[in-house]
Amino acid sequence: MPLPPRGLLAIFAHPDDESFGVGGVLALAAARGVPTNLVCATDGDLGGEAGARELDRDLRHGELREAMAALGVPEPIFLGYRDSGMENWARPADCFATADAEEVVGRLESILAELRPAVVLTFDPGGIYGHPDHVTISARATEAYRRAARRPGGPRVLYHQAIPRSGLAEMGRLQEAFAALRGDATAAPPTEDDLLQQRRFVELARPDEEVTTIVDVRSVLDQKLAALAAHASQMRDGGWADAPREMVERFLGWETFVRVDPPPLQGERETDLRGVV
Ligand SMILES: [Zn+2]
Repeated sequence: MPLPPRGLLAIFAHPDDESFGVGGVLALAAARGVPTNLVCATDGDLGGEAGARELDRDLRHGELREAMAALGVPEPIFLGYRDSGMENWARPADCFATADAEEVVGRLESILAELRPAVVLTFDPGGIYGHPDHVTISARATEAYRRAARRPGGPRVLYHQAIPRSGLAEMGRLQEAFAALRGDATAAPPTEDDLLQQRRFVELARPDEEVTTIVDVRSVLDQKLAALAAHASQMRDGGWADAPREMVERFLGWETFVRVDPPPLQGERETDLRGVV
């Protein structure tokens, strides 16, 4: 008989995807001694500012390592694919979104077989705002989970990280309130990419009733803030470290999921990841 699966594996697309959406649950799991790991599919090499998008992969790997250290999670597992860029950009050759699907799923199945997590986390199918790498990793990780779950000792629970519509509206209000507090009246107007992204966030947020799982992560908020700050190349407006605590708690203090497997019963709601966190 194989040993029962144990622990938590998060599978995301870019260095920094993890800290905002699941950094709290990773920190909570790690603090409880639950084996906790992260797979990062791409090098995030197109995560630079508009006009200078190319970033050094070692820089982003280093930032992710620092973020994981802040969360108490071991060395991330890098799949090493090239960033595909936003959905309205020209797709670079040999990027993650066009990588052979079977190859990616196979690599994820091998990692699942080696680590034997009980619980797997990845993006919602829409990838929160439609980034091709987010959409791709959600599909590949979900397929790898389904195959692995059929085997003895395979994973038992799959969550998609998702933002409920009410949560997105609340985040928008908090961002505006914080910007006003900082006196950002002279801040640069949003770029075309920013506007597209905002539209996609709204389109892809999940109806509240579809979100099954809301985890309170306020007890590890400082670790989550440190993880976010570690991704210095992605901090365009200084981040949330200086916001009033109550505002930070409302913005970053809850993490939200749709439980995909086992499927929820009608109206089922939970406040933890099936006992793991
Ligand atoms: Zn991303």
